[in-house]
Amino acid sequence: GHCKYSTAAATEEEPIKPSVQVEHTQLLIDGKFVDAASGKTFPTLDPRTGEVIANVAEGKSEDVDRAVAAARKAFDHGPWPKMTAYERQRILLRIADLVEKHNDEIAALETWDNGKPYEQSSKIEIPMLVRLIRYYAGWADKIHGLTVPADGPYHVQTLHEPIGVAGQIIPWNFPLLMFGWKVGPALACGNTIVIKTAEQTPLSALYVAQLFHEAGLPPGVLNVVSGFGPTAGAALASHMEVDKLAFTGSTDTGKVVLELAAKSNLKPVTLELGGKSPFIVCEDADVDQAVELAHFALFFNQGQCCCAGSRTFVHESVYDEFVEKAKARALKRVVGDPFKGGIEQGPQIDSEQFEKILRYIRSGVENGATLETGGDRLGNKGFYIQPTVFSNVKDGMPIAKEEIFGPVQTILKFKDLGEVVQRANNSRYGLAAGIFTQNIDTANSLTRALRVGTVWTNCFDTFDAAIPFGGYKMSGQGREKGEYSLKNYLQVKAVVTSLKNPAWL
Ligand code: NAD
Repeated sequence: GHCKYSTAAATEEEPIKPSVQVEHTQLLIDGKFVDAASGKTFPTLDPRTGEVIANVAEGKSEDVDRAVAAARKAFDHGPWPKMTAYERQRILLRIADLVEKHNDEIAALETWDNGKPYEQSSKIEIPMLVRLIRYYAGWADKIHGLTVPADGPYHVQTLHEPIGVAGQIIPWNFPLLMFGWKVGPALACGNTIVIKTAEQTPLSALYVAQLFHEAGLPPGVLNVVSGFGPTAGAALASHMEVDKLAFTGSTDTGKVVLELAAKSNLKPVTLELGGKSPFIVCEDADVDQAVELAHFALFFNQGQCCCAGSRTFVHESVYDEFVEKAKARALKRVVGDPFKGGIEQGPQIDSEQFEKILRYIRSGVENGATLETGGDRLGNKGFYIQPTVFSNVKDGMPIAKEEIFGPVQTILKFKDLGEVVQRANNSRYGLAAGIFTQNIDTANSLTRALRVGTVWTNCFDTFDAAIPFGGYKMSGQGREKGEYSLKNYLQVKAVVTSLKNPAWL
C-alpha cells in the first residue's frame, strides 16, 4: 500500500509540457549568439522520454579559440577589470535581480534539460544561484591587499589583482548552481570567462548568460561554449591564453584536465571531483530522524550529487530497525514526471548514467548484498530508476567503494567509533561526511578524525554561499564558495618602494 513510485506519470501518461520555449541554442561569444564555426549541432535530450528538446551549436577548438580571444580582449582592453569595484558590484546585483525575476522560466528549462523536480529547480537551485551572485557582489568592493613590514626603509604593499581569462568546465547535475559557483567569484574579482557547460545540459546557462548581458555585463566578459569534453573541454584546458582553469566533474576527467593544464601553460587548476561520502548513524540516534536524513543525503537530486551520503554506516544497536525503516521510506518516495507537483524524484540524466546505475545494482546483488527494495528501472520510457536500498553491504564491494551517482542506498553495519572512522577514511575520496548523534563528544571526535572537506552534523547538503566546499584526497584541489573561492581568481603582486627619508622626522 505504501508503494508510491509506480506513479503513472513516469510511465504511461504523456509528459507534461514545460511552460517555457527554448530561445537560445547558439554559442555566446563576445556578447553575441553565434553558430559553431563548423555549423554543427548536437541534440540535448529530455530525460523523461529520451526525445530531442533542441539542437544546440557544438563548440569545438576553433570556437574555444574565438571565445578565448573575446575574453582576452575584454580582459586586456575592456572596461571590466578596470572599472571601479562598486560598478562591478552593481552589475552583479542587477544580474541577481534579473535571474530572480525570470526564476520560473529558468527553472523550467533546468528541469526540462536535467530531469530534476521543478519544485527543486524553482525553490532551491535558482534561488541559491541568486543568493550566491548577491554574496559575491558583496565581495566585489571588499577585495584588497595588505601593507607588509620589511627589514629596511621600504613601503611594501600587496595588490590583489584578477588573474585574467578563466576557463571553467562544469557538469550536468546542478547545471546552474555549478555555473554560479564558477562565474560568481571570477566576476567579483574582475576576471573574464570562457565556460563550457555539460553536453547533457546546455540550455539554462545560455538563458542566464543572456540576462548577464542585459544587466550590463560588457561583451566578452562571459562567453559560453556548449560542446563535448574531449573537444571543447580539452581545448579550453590546454589553451595557452587561458590563465586559470576550474573544473567540476569526475576524478578521471580531473586528472586529464590537470595534465592538459600542466602540459600547456601551467595554468593553476581547481578541481571539484567525485566522492563516496559516509553518513554515520551513531547508537544514540533517534532512528526515525536518522532514516529521514540519511534518505535525503543519498536520494536528493536522483542520487546525482558528488557529495551524496552514499555509504550509510549504522551502529549495530540500531541497525535492524534502521534498515526496516530505510526500506519503508524508499518505498514511499514519490517518483514521476518532474513537472508534476509533489514529485521527489525524476529521471536520471541520460541513458549512460541509467545503464551504469543498473549495472551497479546487478553487481550488488551478485556480490551478496541484500536488495531490500527497488533494483530496476521504472516504467518503460525515459531514465527513471526505482529507489533502491541494499543492506548487508561489505566494504570491499564495488557498490561500497565506487560512485554510483544514482538512487541506490548502501547500508553498512559498524560496532564502534574507532572502527567506523577507519572504514570511512578507507577511501580514495574525501569530499564530505554526515554524522548523526546527540552526543557532542562523539560528534567532535568524528569531525576531527574524518579526512573530508565538509562535515555535516545532524544536517546534510547545507550549501550556503559563504560555506567553502571542496575535497580532501582524490575528491579535488582547492575550495569553492565563500571567501576561500576568491583566491582562486586573484594574483598577488608585491609592490616594494624604497623610501628616501627615515620614518621619523
Ligand atoms: P565528466 O567528468 O565526464 O564531465 C564533467 C565535465 O567535464 C563535462 O562538462 C564534460 O564535457 C567535461 N569533460 C569530459 N571529458 C573531458 C576532457 N577530456 N577534457 C575536458 N573536459 C572534459 O563527468 P560525468 O561523468 O559527466 O559526471 C559525473 C561525475 O561528476 C561524477 O563522478 C561526480 O562525482 C562528478 N561531480 C562532481 C562534483 C563536485 O562538486 N565535486 C559535482 C558534480 C559532479
